[in-house]
Amino acid sequence: MHLFYDYHIHTVFSGHSGPEMLVPAILDHAGRRGLRRIAVLEHAPELNRHCRAVFANTASDFPCPQFQMIREQLDYWHRQFPVEVVRAAEVDANPNLRDGSLLTTDLGGIQLVIASTHFLPGIPAFWYNLPENIPTAGIERMYDEWLDWICRVAANPKVDVLAHPGLEMAAVGAIRSFEGKVLDDFARLLKVCLEHDTAFELNESLAKKIPPEVLRGYIDIIAAARDLGVKISPASDAHDLKTIGVFTWAGEIAAKINLGEEDLFQPLMAE
Ligand SMILES: [Zn+2]
Ligand SMILES: [Zn+2]
Repeated sequence: MHLFYDYHIHTVFSGHSGPEMLVPAILDHAGRRGLRRIAVLEHAPELNRHCRAVFANTASDFPCPQFQMIREQLDYWHRQFPVEVVRAAEVDANPNLRDGSLLTTDLGGIQLVIASTHFLPGIPAFWYNLPENIPTAGIERMYDEWLDWICRVAANPKVDVLAHPGLEMAAVGAIRSFEGKVLDDFARLLKVCLEHDTAFELNESLAKKIPPEVLRGYIDIIAAARDLGVKISPASDAHDLKTIGVFTWAGEIAAKINLGEEDLFQPLMAE
C-alpha cells in the first residue's frame, strides 16, 4: 500500500531542521509527492533552548511561541497547495514527574498532539548524547522506568499519537531487539493505546537511527498494533525536504503485513 499521509514534518522553527523547511516549501513538496494530508509540527518545548531547565527540573510548563508562527504561516499558505494540512505539535512528556503529563499545556490551535520521550528518565541527558559511564543496571532501570512512563503518556487524554515509540531506548542500548520480553512489554503498551484511543507511529527515522539487526522485530509490534485495532500513524519525521513522505522501511513493513487504509490513523481536522 502506498502511504499518502505523513503526520510528522518539522519546520525551520525547530532550530535543527534544514533552512529550506519553510512552510510553503513543505506544502509544495508534499503536494508534488502526491501526499493527501500532512501534519506540520514543531517540538514543544524547544529542545535545545529549554533542555537545561528540564534537566534541572525547574519548570514543568514551557511556552511555545513557535506554534503561533507556524499557524500564521499555514493560515496564509495552505489554500495555495493541493494537500490537506493538520496543525500538530510534538510535545515532550515530563521526564521528571513521569506521570504522563506533558511539558507544554498551551496547545491552543493545535489539532494533533504527538507525544515523545526525548528526555531520558532518571538521567539528565538526551538519547543522542548519552553520558559514557552509565552502568548496565542503570540502563536496565531506565528501560523499566521508560516503559511505565510511556504507558502513562499513552493514557493521557491530550495525547493523540506516540512519537517513534522505542527509538530512544534502542538508541541508548536499553532495547537490544524488539523481540521476546520487549515484544511483551510493547503488547502491554498497545493495550493502553487501545484503551485510550492513542495511535502508534510508524516512524521512518527509526531505520536511520537504529541498526537493522536491532530493528528486525519492529514489524511484529506494528502487526500487533494492527491486530489489536491500534491505529498506525505514518511519519517521516522529515527535517529536510527530500525526506518528506519518503517511506522506505515503513513502506516495506506496511506492504509485508498488508496494512490497509482502515488501519491508519486519521486526525480530526477540528480545532
Ligand atoms: Zn521526536
Ligand atoms: Zn520529530
